[in-house]
Amino acid sequence: PNSLDVDVAIIGAGPSGAIAASLLHQQGKRVLVLEKQHFPRFSIGESLLPCCMQFIEEAGMLDALNAAGFQHKNGAAFRRNGTYTTFDFTDKFTPGPGTTFQVQRASFDKLLADTAQSQGVDIRYGETVEAIDLTENPRLTVRNEQGELYQINAQYVLDASGFGRVLPRLLNLESPSCLPPRSAIFTHVEDNISDASFDRNKILISVHPEHKDIWYWLIPFSNGRCSLGVVAEPQLLERLQGSLEQKLMSIVNEEPGLKALLANAKVAQECATLKGYSANVSRLATGKFALLGNAGEFLDPVFSSGVTIAMQSASMAAKCLTKQLNGETVDWQADYSTPLMQGVNAFRTYVQAWYDGRFQDVIFYEEPNERIKQMICSILAGYAWDTNNPFVKDSERRLNMIVELCRNPAATPAFAEV
Ligand code: FAD
Repeated sequence: PNSLDVDVAIIGAGPSGAIAASLLHQQGKRVLVLEKQHFPRFSIGESLLPCCMQFIEEAGMLDALNAAGFQHKNGAAFRRNGTYTTFDFTDKFTPGPGTTFQVQRASFDKLLADTAQSQGVDIRYGETVEAIDLTENPRLTVRNEQGELYQINAQYVLDASGFGRVLPRLLNLESPSCLPPRSAIFTHVEDNISDASFDRNKILISVHPEHKDIWYWLIPFSNGRCSLGVVAEPQLLERLQGSLEQKLMSIVNEEPGLKALLANAKVAQECATLKGYSANVSRLATGKFALLGNAGEFLDPVFSSGVTIAMQSASMAAKCLTKQLNGETVDWQADYSTPLMQGVNAFRTYVQAWYDGRFQDVIFYEEPNERIKQMICSILAGYAWDTNNPFVKDSERRLNMIVELCRNPAATPAFAEV
């Protein structure tokens, strides 16, 4: 047929699309997911945060994930000029899961999508959404792999297209990011790490010895490999010579800790680069469509918040949409965009403070107050929507108080006030 009717059309079968589809299907809604690629396919974004386990459970996918053999993750480690510090995600302020996984996204995304499909969700691969008409109910134009176009009439559209940013482009919703453009170069390595003290259960974030706004990720997997990447403003990478692999390995070798750790590592996958990935939109949702995950705002990879934000948005949108499809009134600004942005904005505070050095001084402070560390740990574990946490509710002011304390402990009033 050249036209199809559904309740909800979802663009993209990545984490936000698969979770939203499953949750809406559970509510008895007719969902159709359109995915332009075939899975498994590579994606960046391999270190999860414990908070996202709640959404995986809500979608009935936890058993499948636990059985998949991914690398266990219980925290984050940071290293700067030889100082090493860790955050244990099980020791946090907000209740909820304290552990998660480090995942090869090709397998992880396929597992979520296959589980949604086994629950009964209709996912069509190799189908690209090309146009949308919002004059009446949303109508999508889709191109299949034979090059044929057909139409989908939906009550509502969820854009889960990630960096594809389908609706922001088609509806002119793009707006500039608050963050300067940065570039990442990354690969997977056969790590051959022999250092017994290396903790495979944590992501390791290392800071460049001279440029504190250049940082590296090292994400161990369960198969003896690690994901390795560097992030910097593009002009700081221009001085590097040679192929992407040579550039990556030469800047990795500038950080003595990483150089030692990866002394016997072998690059196991072609190096890739992404540039200017931070993005924003003028509007996240209306009565006809909502943007999920990366199709909305994407901040920065430093705290591995991408998949968690993607799944949080999927869960929130599915709840609003279920109400709307059941005939209740939904105010998409008040019920979806504003509460979603609460957590995104908390992450933004920490991302900005990471790059200007304030948050690094907190992370590397040697005598942290335990209670405060637990509150900050909650955010690093992804619980950025917990408004009981003062560091979520009033993130900028609270963070600045702690920065003062760490930079000048003698002159700062007691912790009790925080
Ligand atoms: P995606 O996973 O991108 O899925 C979107 C899907 O939509 C794709 O499968 C695509 O094929 C499909 N699509 C696109 N256009 C169309 C179309 N026209 N029609 C049909 N289908 C379409 N996040 C983390 O949580 N942890 C990390 O460690 C992390 N590291 C990162 C490092 C870097 C350098 C960058 C740039 C990002 C990182 N992220 C990380 C972020 C993470 O990659 C994303 O936030 C996450 O993948 C978003 O999921 P999503 O479901 O919104 O979109």
